[in-house]
Amino acid sequence: MQKGILDSHTIRDDFPILKRKIGGKNNFVYLDNAATTQKPLAVINSITNYYTNMNSNIHRAVYEVAEESTRAYERTREMVARFINAKHVEEIIFTRNTTESINLLSYSWGRKNIKAGDKILITELEHHSNIVPWQVLAKETNSKLCYLNINDEGYLNLDNFFHELEGGGIRLISISHMSNVLGTIVPIKTIIRAAHEKGIPVIVDGAQSVPHMPVDVQDLDCDFLAFSAHKMLGPTGVGVLYGKRELIERMDPFMGGGDMIKEVFKNYTHYNDIPYKFEAGTPNIADVVGFGVAIEYLENIGMEAVRQHEIDLTEYALELLTSIPQLKIYGPLVAIDRGGVISFNIGDIHPHDLATIMNDHGIAIRSGHHCAQVLMERLSVSATSRASFYIYNTKDDIDQLINVLDEARRIFRL
Ligand code: PMP
Repeated sequence: MQKGILDSHTIRDDFPILKRKIGGKNNFVYLDNAATTQKPLAVINSITNYYTNMNSNIHRAVYEVAEESTRAYERTREMVARFINAKHVEEIIFTRNTTESINLLSYSWGRKNIKAGDKILITELEHHSNIVPWQVLAKETNSKLCYLNINDEGYLNLDNFFHELEGGGIRLISISHMSNVLGTIVPIKTIIRAAHEKGIPVIVDGAQSVPHMPVDVQDLDCDFLAFSAHKMLGPTGVGVLYGKRELIERMDPFMGGGDMIKEVFKNYTHYNDIPYKFEAGTPNIADVVGFGVAIEYLENIGMEAVRQHEIDLTEYALELLTSIPQLKIYGPLVAIDRGGVISFNIGDIHPHDLATIMNDHGIAIRSGHHCAQVLMERLSVSATSRASFYIYNTKDDIDQLINVLDEARRIFRL
């Protein structure tokens, strides 16, 4: 494939699962990419190859196979660093997922730096994994969890942000770069710049942004960035925490055990250097190696092309969806302000019923609260239907979604 040009029809050939027939007859139309993405054959093969030819524990043994395994694991770290333009490879910590990355921060950074009365600032857009760890920390430290609100179009209210900033007392900001429900892309650079003027560090939840658009940590100047491999063609069980070197060097470990130590004595331990200080125990080696292949796959396409493809699909989907009577879309209606995640409700059809009808036609969409119940409360709904796109989705997938929406309207006599 020529870099910068994304041909989803060709790309589909690399994803064996898309050839499945659902219910023995329907093509599989996968529109649940915000939950997790499918894996190309190259990633699947790399995991088989790892266990077939390279399996051994890393960082310890001196035999050839273990050295190969260590090199493959560390190569992915270098690739991740390059992918998000981290200044130093040691700034990349492997975790299990975005959730673990944020919990690590709440534990290791939060418990050291957050004091009684401090404010932790998040938004109404957050996924539960960027809410609950801060609720726990706020309770433990007697600090206060504060929420920035959104307007009715699903954009973050920046006036509210500047007002909160002026109010003082904020010790930490943790914000999703792109909403997994509304698709809203948050003006994170503006937020970071203003926060830094007040000396406030910013955590970016990049679970939805890093897989779908170019993200450059030096350009954003974020202090921390969390994301998951499984949402960007990689295997489940691998997450990333990026942190500025000077910040993670000062943090205490999250977990104790093997690999995170330099020397252990009866009553104390010298911890290992970063990033190993935060990677206790045997890591998910095979899947980290597979993640490297996923990054290579995305780099070959180019993240600008990935983003453009999703803008095109989103524009197309928004145009068709907005013409359907009684269909309400949540979030920005302008494709460039959002990612390829569209939440909607249609008449009084329950999202689970709609998802069931979609499934009867081989279409996988998501229904429910999407791990964002604070946002559901703001939208005054208990659930939405959600279609989300990735590199292998085509306009034909969206046409099929629209056809079944029409059928659902007929069934429910809307
Ligand atoms: N944040 C956002 C914005 C997400 O969309 C998700 C996954 N839906 C997460 C965090 C959590 O990711 P994971 O389940 O991989 O930890």
